Amino acid sequence: MTILAIDFETANERRDSACAVGLAWIEGDRIVRRASRLIRPPELRFAPGNIRVHGIVPADVRSEPDFPSVMAEFLPDLTGGLILAHNAPFDMGVLRASLSAYGLPVPAFSYLCTLQIARQVFPDPAGCGLGKVAARLGIRFEHHDAGEDAFACAEIALAAMRQTGAEGVAGLTRVLPLQVTTLAPGPDLPRYRQPGRDSVAGRALFSARRASGPEDDRLRFAIRGSTGNRYEVSLEERPSGLYLRCSCQAGRNRRRCRHVDAVVDGDVTDLISRNFADVECLRRLIEAAPAGHRVEPVRVRRVQAA
Ligand SMILES: [Zn+2]
Repeated sequence: MTILAIDFETANERRDSACAVGLAWIEGDRIVRRASRLIRPPELRFAPGNIRVHGIVPADVRSEPDFPSVMAEFLPDLTGGLILAHNAPFDMGVLRASLSAYGLPVPAFSYLCTLQIARQVFPDPAGCGLGKVAARLGIRFEHHDAGEDAFACAEIALAAMRQTGAEGVAGLTRVLPLQVTTLAPGPDLPRYRQPGRDSVAGRALFSARRASGPEDDRLRFAIRGSTGNRYEVSLEERPSGLYLRCSCQAGRNRRRCRHVDAVVDGDVTDLISRNFADVECLRRLIEAAPAGHRVEPVRVRRVQAA
């Protein structure tokens, strides 16, 4: 079984806007291969916030191959493999959304989140973001370069393996209470130029969620606050848009809070309900929202505290 760490950078808030991918292959107790590629996203629209993170601008990728061309080299290794990613719901979301955007099937594989691994093996009040964990472990890398991030992710998994005495990275699942997730083909995300409810998938997602009606079926996320309190973020769908209600003080005052931001951003660091699939589901709902309801990951206008 191939074991490899993967990291994507995106051009804008869309999950299907991958502009770079990094990979690091693990065999036994070491990294045996590294690769990184630039990708021309479906549209050359780069959000300033994304550029600030990774430094990639449209001119860098204009002449690069598109997602299917770049990933054709790597998909055989992903298929049937064990994939590692730091905050895996994000990278898995990018992979799935990008494949769907080009009408390609999602290969079957399992994945582990090194953020979850780090939180169990190398916990620290400062948090377990990639940069922080790597710094604590003495892993030197250039953060937010996809190839470097994948390398650091693989090193974190190897460090956790040594720390726990697990037999191989795959053996981590036997010594830690980890969720190994199998990425299964899901409903297609709306294709480019067919956003939101205009697409069959968008309509299906919306009607499915609305039909689920009763309050108990709402998407809910339990988030650990900075003081250790447990807050609940729940989704409400209204004709005017998607609303995330948080039980914290700011949420009760109808202000946005960092718990809502975390769920929208796909940051699962403090997600104590561990319903990672629901984070992905929320991501899809947001992406499938009609154009006027589009939600940006950080500066969210339409999803708001209610
Ligand atoms: Zn809150």
